Amino acid sequence: MTKWVYGFGGGAAEGRALDIEILGGKGANLAEMCTLGLPVPPGLTIVAQACGEFLKAGRCLNDALKAEVMAGIARIEALTERRFGSNDRPLLLSIRSGARASMPGMMDTVLNLGLNDETVMGLAQDAGDERFAWDSYRRFIQMYGDVVMGLGHDLFEEILEDEKARFGREQEPEMTAAEWRSVVARYKDVIEEETGAPFPQAPDIQLWGAIGAVFSSWLNPRAATYRMLHTISEAWGTAVNVQAMVFGNLGNSSATGVAFTRNPSTGENRLFGEFLVNAQGEDVVAGIRTPQNITEAQRIASGSEKPSLEKLMPEAFAELSAICHRLEAHYRDMQDIEFTIERGRLWMLQTRTGKRTAKAALKIAVDMAQERLISRDDAVARIDPASLDQVLHTTIDPQARRTVIGSGLPASPGAATGEIVFSSEDAVRAQKEGRDVILVRVETSPEDIHGMSAAVGILTTRGGMTSHAAVVARGMGLPCVTGAGNLRVDLRNGLLIGGGLSLKAGEIITIDGSSGQAIKGAVPMLKPELSGDFAQIMEWADAARRMRVRTNADTPADARTARAFGAEGIGLCRTEHMFFEGERINVMREMILASDEAGRRAALGKLLPMQRSDFVELFSIMHGLPVTIRLLDPPLHEFLPKAEDEIAEVAAAMGLSPRELSERIDALHEFNPMLGHRGCRLAISYPEICEMQARAIFEAAVEAARQTGAAVVPEIMVPLVGLKAELDYVKACIDAVAREIIGAAGLSIDYLVGTMIELPRAALRAHVIAESADFFSFGTNDLTQTTFGISRDDAAQFLETYLRKGIIEKDPFVQIDYDGVGELIQIAAERGRRTKNALKLGICGEHGGDPTSIRFCEERGLDYVSCSPFRVPIARLAAAQAAITVPKVA
Ligand code: PEP
Ligand code: MG
Repeated sequence: MTKWVYGFGGGAAEGRALDIEILGGKGANLAEMCTLGLPVPPGLTIVAQACGEFLKAGRCLNDALKAEVMAGIARIEALTERRFGSNDRPLLLSIRSGARASMPGMMDTVLNLGLNDETVMGLAQDAGDERFAWDSYRRFIQMYGDVVMGLGHDLFEEILEDEKARFGREQEPEMTAAEWRSVVARYKDVIEEETGAPFPQAPDIQLWGAIGAVFSSWLNPRAATYRMLHTISEAWGTAVNVQAMVFGNLGNSSATGVAFTRNPSTGENRLFGEFLVNAQGEDVVAGIRTPQNITEAQRIASGSEKPSLEKLMPEAFAELSAICHRLEAHYRDMQDIEFTIERGRLWMLQTRTGKRTAKAALKIAVDMAQERLISRDDAVARIDPASLDQVLHTTIDPQARRTVIGSGLPASPGAATGEIVFSSEDAVRAQKEGRDVILVRVETSPEDIHGMSAAVGILTTRGGMTSHAAVVARGMGLPCVTGAGNLRVDLRNGLLIGGGLSLKAGEIITIDGSSGQAIKGAVPMLKPELSGDFAQIMEWADAARRMRVRTNADTPADARTARAFGAEGIGLCRTEHMFFEGERINVMREMILASDEAGRRAALGKLLPMQRSDFVELFSIMHGLPVTIRLLDPPLHEFLPKAEDEIAEVAAAMGLSPRELSERIDALHEFNPMLGHRGCRLAISYPEICEMQARAIFEAAVEAARQTGAAVVPEIMVPLVGLKAELDYVKACIDAVAREIIGAAGLSIDYLVGTMIELPRAALRAHVIAESADFFSFGTNDLTQTTFGISRDDAAQFLETYLRKGIIEKDPFVQIDYDGVGELIQIAAERGRRTKNALKLGICGEHGGDPTSIRFCEERGLDYVSCSPFRVPIARLAAAQAAITVPKVA
């Protein structure tokens, strides 16, 4: 039989904190506080399961539930020595929501329930305060009329303003009993006018009306939006808490307030909060009066003249402090509490785990571990890895006002302000003149690399989370917003159009790569602050972690940043990114456009020393750590000029006519280059490219080993393999070069040859491919693209619709698709390791920096994850959390 109602009060409770799914957060914690012997007004919780039933039927049909509520009220009556609906010491109730996850302010509350034309007299007599009684009654009618009868707050506010004016009152505290009485009369009249029935006088009708309204508020649009944003299931429903009222508005020895057991923005271990004298909870929320500080220290720091609770009510303060200590020790986490002081007596109305900034979260976790309140693993598990973006990047001041002109995907975190430029050339020019610019493009291509590195931020109107702009910006640690489909780039007129505005090149915008917003003008920013607490958590995380964390780095700068963030090697060096800088692009074009092998070899001969010196530098920076270098992967057309003037320029440099060059470019055109002549297919068509790259790698390994004295073990990675024969062909070429160079050097250099698994066929045939591979690295960007058949560059527009319509829960290019792509990875890992037990497994797609995907990698027993440099700390923390929480396989 379902138990519908759980009572609490008088030092005992039927529920406990662990019953949060049944009782909701508020109910479970009220019960827990009662059991701890803390002063909690007695009450009862109607279980969340009743919410679903109520919403289905539109009313409460359940007799058992009704009987349990009435029995619960009888218990409250006994504990308070008051009677619900009585004229003599009437019991008044508060009716509050309380879902499993905290949803602050999203649902409805009714206070002072049980008042009517008669009980108001009883309350006046009991409190010895007629004014208080009539004020409470008018508050009740106002809340009930709004929340239960749906008449709207404004209707009552208008009357209140009118009455205040009539009586010549500026502030509500100036109103007398008689004046409140007059307000009550007008409220009742308006209710009768609007609904055709008088305001309900019977307390049990009021009670069921309010309970129903709280249940119904689970479906209000505010709550629905909040649930969507915080992935809270509609099926959970809300519990309802019915509790004896205590009054913070019973004169100047009464007060109400909220407190955090530690400072939620800095993490400082000191009580922090605010209160109002002679007020009820909603007055704090309404913000009509300025609240006072709880502690003297806080009052002095804020420069407030109004006395702190510590000074004003020292006894209640001392008790509150002691209770806060107790609650922290009990819950082993920072608490956010609500309290009321009724004529000097303290009552606890709520406790819950307090929300905090990332900086505070780090400090609190470290302090609590050092206070031995929690273990080091607990401290590591407490930090949301994604929140580290707040400490690693410049962010927009949360207090700042923003004029949002458009929004897209939060592709690379951090915020930046600069002048709009529409081309990479303009970006470079502006940077030379010392100006900060935001590069605004429809999308970027590898040709934009110089413009991107000259900009302080990147905004594109097309492209998803693994589009070129997103991947490169993350690598560079630049804020980036991609796929901002509600903005338009009008290149012809040099305008960025959105949010009803047209902005010209040179105008200032701000982009927020953490939220995906594009904002007009400059906005106040907060600088990143890497505190000692951050380093401490990272140290503990590293101790708990099983998987290694490498980085995706193509340049020495990336590699150095990643090392500083604790990367343990390079998991992916995309060699193509080395071919776009300065002179190199021209040599690359020369190679691609050469009409025969001899021409290609000539150009490759010029590229060789450049590649070699890049690799020497990467090997030296990584000083003996593993470095995975991927052979050339992208479709060749990405390197070719597109605009007419550029074609003319390249043609002149190559001694061709623009027409001849255009013809060659046309011949290389592919309809779907992502599935075309790329990956290992290039090395098979043009083995001389593979030869040059292998030569550069081995010569660099020899040189770096001699320079640094640290052994270099290059890991050479072959992209887009689907057939074992493809890998064999390319591997034979690599091995031949290795034999020649290592032999000549007279050094012993180990190396690995492995493959990316980024095609479904490769995953399915992993047992065969593993015969020729020393390692697999899951290229989950392409594997997601090829498994879903969704182009990663064109996905943003319709995936947004998919998310909105609930077709998918998460963008699969951001968080690994456990069921589909995940199964392919599992198959490949199992089959590969069946062939080769020691096969090294890693991931180097963008998922390697996503906490949920990292957990997946831990579950599947991968050896390492690799991600962009700025995500390395996030990955270290997420890998540690996964190691702590994922059950170990024997
Ligand atoms: C991948 O496909 O996941 C990958 C890492 O390669 P790229 O993003 O360069 O295609
Ligand atoms: Mg790939």
